[in-house]
Parts: sequence; structure tokens; C-alpha cells
Amino acid sequence: MSPLDELLENWEPVIGLEVHVQLATTSKAFSSSAVRFGASPNSLTDPLVLGMPGTLPQFNRHALELALLLGVATGSKIRARCRFSRKHYFYPDQPKGYQISQYDEPLCEDGHLDLVMNGAIHRVPLTRIHLEEDAGKNTHVGAFSHVDLNRAGVALVEVVSAPAMHSSEEAAEFMRSLHRLVRWLEISEADMEKGQLRCDANVSVRRRGEDRLGTRTELKNINSFRFVQNAIEHEIARQIRLLEQGERIIQETRLWDADLGASAPMRSKETAEDYRYFPDPDLPPLVVDGALMGSILKSLPELPTQRFERYLKQHGLSPDDARTLISERALADYFDAAEKAHGPEPTLVASSGQGSGRTIANWMLSELLGALNADGKTIDDTPMSAQTLSDLVVLVENGTISGKIGKEIFEESYKTGEAPAAIVERRGVQQISDEAALWEIVEQVVSANAKQAEAFAAGKDGLFGFFVGQVMKLTQGRANPVITSDLLHKRLGR
Ligand code: ADP
Ligand code: MG
Repeated sequence: MSPLDELLENWEPVIGLEVHVQLATTSKAFSSSAVRFGASPNSLTDPLVLGMPGTLPQFNRHALELALLLGVATGSKIRARCRFSRKHYFYPDQPKGYQISQYDEPLCEDGHLDLVMNGAIHRVPLTRIHLEEDAGKNTHVGAFSHVDLNRAGVALVEVVSAPAMHSSEEAAEFMRSLHRLVRWLEISEADMEKGQLRCDANVSVRRRGEDRLGTRTELKNINSFRFVQNAIEHEIARQIRLLEQGERIIQETRLWDADLGASAPMRSKETAEDYRYFPDPDLPPLVVDGALMGSILKSLPELPTQRFERYLKQHGLSPDDARTLISERALADYFDAAEKAHGPEPTLVASSGQGSGRTIANWMLSELLGALNADGKTIDDTPMSAQTLSDLVVLVENGTISGKIGKEIFEESYKTGEAPAAIVERRGVQQISDEAALWEIVEQVVSANAKQAEAFAAGKDGLFGFFVGQVMKLTQGRANPVITSDLLHKRLGR
């Protein structure tokens, strides 16, 4: 048992995440400055972002549409009329002196995020999803601090989970699922290296059996899936050790240092009162009418976890394969397209009864992804269409070529773009399934190897492979292996 597992015998961790997701709008949340990563510092600003007197914010409708899509996809209640509030704090990355956010009237409440854990769907409740603007960025170099306001005013949603997760793995999976979902919905690129998805983790522990929540700490600055897990695990252990020594947890914000693998206190926890929230008098209420909701609902695609379940039920895929396929929408779409091109009926008589989904998934995940990986490509720039992959699968399923030859045909078709059937024709590698033709070859092989045939008849089982090998050699690997083995048994008498 690991040291943490031992600590966990008597203590239950409780985790709630607050995840900021940058919305993929081309201009800022309340002004017309462009949003672009890597632009030269302070080139993407305007009087509003700079906090000049006399400026007025105007909300970006595209940001609302993107946030609503996430709200609908998480089954949240959508507020028909909500408002923006000012959250006050002083910091150089925020020249206005306040951040426009939502406080008592968030856009979305009481939704949920579905994760895939241990091969099944696991639902985590969400408290709220609200709109807000990002702050700028300070970098500290020696005695100087640099302020870049390019990011100030960029539209974000903050997704707040309920305190309902109980392990670092679950929290990391929550991040992965949210990352997958927002990319799937195309509401954010969610590139963590560019800070487009950022997470604060709230952690507390309580004695097992206890209902009340323990005092929590908040971990800031978690910018990778691995860090979420490490930082939370570390914090759980730290808290349990303190409590077991009879000490108390101080409610505070801690900063995770990935290089040190440890966190340090940053500030004592601020409370809502500290921020002097009040409704922003410059912004009218945000109204979500029926027409807007209708168009959002219409644009909602099948969700990744819905597809996961469909792949298990409809196509009999393993949870692992289904999970890989839904990791990206383009991958899942490719699978669906290949499935559709193939048609529901398996072309092989002796099939699993579950259509050809498993076979298609196998070819995709091993051959296609293998080839793409080797080329440093993603599914978006695959040279082989879903139709072509399906054609190849059919050739293998209906016995025109063996699986082994199929892999060679795959390679050539992937490289040259030539149709699999044309390559098979040109190379003359069709599988020989004609019994009479194969019988002749079997006959030839057995009589040429009379001694081995006798030894096999006398019980030397290992020799069977030798005979199969001889038949394959004579046919350049084209003999149908099932029929070959059948005929060999017949000819060899056992
Ligand atoms: P604040 O407004 O101070 O950030 P919230 O009540 O909005 O506090 O909660 C913020 C986050 O902290 C949420 O994700 C919530 O699930 C989580 N959280 C609240 N209390 C606890 C607790 N005792 N243990 C773990 N997480 C908690
Ligand atoms: Mg908070």
C-alpha cells in the first residue's frame, strides 16, 4: 500500500474544481480589440481595456452563444435574464480596478459533466457556469514587472464543479473531459500551454463517515493534466498529516510549484465581501430569448460521452477503443464515416453479429493512427479517406485478401492514394479460397514431405505449422488460412 493509500483509509478527500476556459471569439468580451496569442505586448488594447474614463462596455454576442452551447451540453439550467457584476480588486493587470464577472445571477446552474472512468460514464455535478473577462498578464524580471494587457478583457467562462469529487484521478479526468468537450463543441481551443484552459483546485478532507465538509484550501496555477493530479494528491496528504497531528487546516490559497512538486501559501482566502461585488451599471441585463435558445439547441451535436455509449451498444466496441475514438471529434467522425461507408451488414458470414465496427476500429486505431503518428500527422490531415479504409476492410472481410496482405495494401494505399482494390488487382495478391486449387497445393506439399507427414500422423503436433508454412510459401502467402488448415487436416488424417 502506498503511503497515501494508508492515509486514505480513515480520511475521505473532497475536491471541487474551478476551470477557466477561454472562449474562441475573435474580439474581446466587451470591446472590439482582437484576440490573438503571441501578439506583441499591449498591441491588442483599446480605451476600455485600458480603463479610460468615459468608455462603455458592450457585450460580445458570440461569447454568449459559445457559453450557452456549453450550458446546454452540460444539461444546465439557463437563466433567461442574467446580469454582470463588478468584482473589485487592485492589480496592475486590471486597469479598470474591477473585473466584469457574474455573481448572484450566473448564466448557467446545476448542470453536470460526464466523464469516462473505468470504462463507464461517471457524472459530476456542476454548480454553475458563468461569463467573465480575463485579466492581463504580469511578468516579473529582476527588479521590474512587465504588464501585458493583450489578454485583458478576453471572454472566459468559469466552470465550477460541486465539491463532489473524491480522488485526484477523478479531478484529472474532469479536466480531460472538459477539455475534450469544449474542443468538441468548438467553443475553445483549450490549449493549456497558451493558458486557454486553467484550473484552480479546492481540496479538503474529512473523516470517513462524516457528512460535513472540512476546511478547504485552494490550489492555483495548475496548467496541465498531470499537475492537477500531482498537486491534489500532494495537498490531500499534507492535510491529512496535519489533522492527524491534531492541527487545523487554514483556509488559504496556495500556489503549486510543479518544479518543486510542492505548494506554498500565497494568501489567506479572500471572501466575497472583500470583492465588493455589485451589478455593473454600464451593462444591461443579458437576455436569452426563445429564438436564441432554439438556435443553440439546434446546433448542439451528439456529445462525446453519448457517442461513447453508442459505440459500446451499437457497435460492440471495447470501452478502451470507444474512449480513444471519442478523444477528438474528428477521430469519432472518421469512424462514423467509415462505418457508414461500410454499411450495417458485416461482409463476413462468421462475424460477431455486431456489424463491422470492431474491425473498422481496429484498422483505424492500429494501422491508420500508427501511420499518422509516424508521419507526425493528425486525423485532420489523413491522406486516407474513411471510404478507402472501409473498402480495404471489406476486401479483408470478404476474403479477397488475407489480413496480412491487407496491411501491405494499407501501407501502399496510405502512401500513394491508390484504391485498395486496384492495388490488389495489380499485385495479383487475391487470396486463394478455391478449394480445388488449394487441394492440389496441399497434395503437392504433403507428398513432397512424406517423412514429416508420417511424423505428424504419429503425434508430432508441432509439424502442422510447417505444412501451413509450406502452402503459404508456394502461394506467396495468398492461401486462405482457414481453408488451408481444413484441407491439411483432411489430407494428413488428423
Ligand atoms: P468561492 O466563491 O470562495 O470560490 P465557492 O463556494 O464558489 O467558493 O466554491 C468554489 C469551489 O470550491 C467550488 O468548486 C466548490 O466545489 C469548492 N469547494 C467549496 N467548499 C469545498 C470544500 N469544503 N472542499 C472542497 N472543495 C470545496
Ligand atoms: Mg473561487
